[in-house]
Amino acid sequence: MKYEKIRKQVLEAILEAVDSGLIKGTSGNIALKDDEEDVIAITPSGIAYKTMKAEDIAIVDMNGKWLDGPYKPSSEAPMHTAVIRARKDVKATVHTHGMFATIMAMGDEELQPTTPPQSEFVPVKVVPFTMPGSKDLAQIVVDTLGDGRAVLLKNHGMFCCGKDIKAAMAATVYTEEMATTAYYAKLLGTFNPMPEEAILKMKELIAADQAV
Ligand SMILES: [Zn+2]
Repeated sequence: MKYEKIRKQVLEAILEAVDSGLIKGTSGNIALKDDEEDVIAITPSGIAYKTMKAEDIAIVDMNGKWLDGPYKPSSEAPMHTAVIRARKDVKATVHTHGMFATIMAMGDEELQPTTPPQSEFVPVKVVPFTMPGSKDLAQIVVDTLGDGRAVLLKNHGMFCCGKDIKAAMAATVYTEEMATTAYYAKLLGTFNPMPEEAILKMKELIAADQAV
């Protein structure tokens, strides 16, 4: 099998997302760029993830053109490949319809962290509704994401990225957690996000740790 390493990593991550409830049915998709070559492994379109094998994962070029695999790549490939092309520091991208991220995406406000670990992933801005799979959506995700790790997609879900699959999955898990804690705290009327100064301090600490 060609590109076995990235295909296996994508499969593992998608199964983890299914197990943790972040992905239901065939919604959501994950992409990972190869370390050496300009090719990307991406989940195929409309295939049940639970019974998927590594060789079923599609391989596309940097523009999303289908190169290998028995099933056509996810229709949301333009969004994944656009972010990987735009960001030299990004190798992995994860798109899910996490319930709380989707709920919070209906507002226009950025997500605010309520715990120190969540601080790594802000700002999390909201991308206005744009047709899934379109080039327009790909461009607006790149623009709204900037050099960030996560965005919410209005009436759709969220999109996260990282330097590897572990980092992109962490951004996904913590963005969903951030949305969940904000949702319940707002419902209780007790919402109290992390102080701005503490967020900056946390980001500094994380950046320093990553530099080692
Ligand atoms: Zn979607």
